[in-house]
Amino acid sequence: MKKIIIAIDGFSSCGKSTMAKDLAKEIGYIYIDSGAMYRAVTLYCLEHHLFNPDGSVKEDGLRRQMDDIHISFRLNPETQRPMTFLNGNNVEEQIRTLEVSSHVSPVATLGFVRQAMVGQQQAMGKEKGIVMDGRDIGTAVFPEAELKIFVTASAEIRAQRRYDELKAKGQEVSFDEILKNVKERDHIDQTREISPLRKADDAILLDNSHLTIAEQKEWLKEQFNKAVHE
Ligand code: C5P
Repeated sequence: MKKIIIAIDGFSSCGKSTMAKDLAKEIGYIYIDSGAMYRAVTLYCLEHHLFNPDGSVKEDGLRRQMDDIHISFRLNPETQRPMTFLNGNNVEEQIRTLEVSSHVSPVATLGFVRQAMVGQQQAMGKEKGIVMDGRDIGTAVFPEAELKIFVTASAEIRAQRRYDELKAKGQEVSFDEILKNVKERDHIDQTREISPLRKADDAILLDNSHLTIAEQKEWLKEQFNKAVHE
């Protein structure tokens, strides 16, 4: 069977990574979470004092240090889930905190950051057989991807999912704060100049507000089967 590239884009916290991860596991493809890469750069900025007090990024400082930021993924042998490494350290937990979520969008608007990340992402997809999720995968990273999905759900439902996820990890969070963060990220991601979040013309739209994970999985598998047999 031919190997393809699957691009899954959409709004924050709409379950893209769950569906992308599950599909990749089932069909034996590599899964890459491109958001984790922007989160890792953000964590680096937090650790190296590269934010101004108003939350903007110290661009010159970050530009100078871009070559010192090395991001990679390794599979957790127990869970078979990918873990994100920043300069050799496992940062999978740290990049999922609300602190990183609240700082990531300004980092992801910077052209030199996007250029570096997109270059690495394209290299990862050279051999195809990859499922990548993010905001610009179908539009900028792999415009030629054979299967493109654009996922959306209401902001309240997405905030509730993120709230449940962080609570389950034992983090002290407020629903209102998360909802505010989800809406802010939607706004910044959609209105930024470089590679704004938008549905590629040839992407299939999926509103999963009222779908169970099992229903969504079934739907995605169908789209995959159609795409490989085309
Ligand atoms: O997907 P996730 O919410 O983890 O992504 C974190 C942030 O990284 C997003 O809010 C967005 O600003 C940025 N991002 C991006 N392009 C991607 C993936 C993520 O700009 N391909």
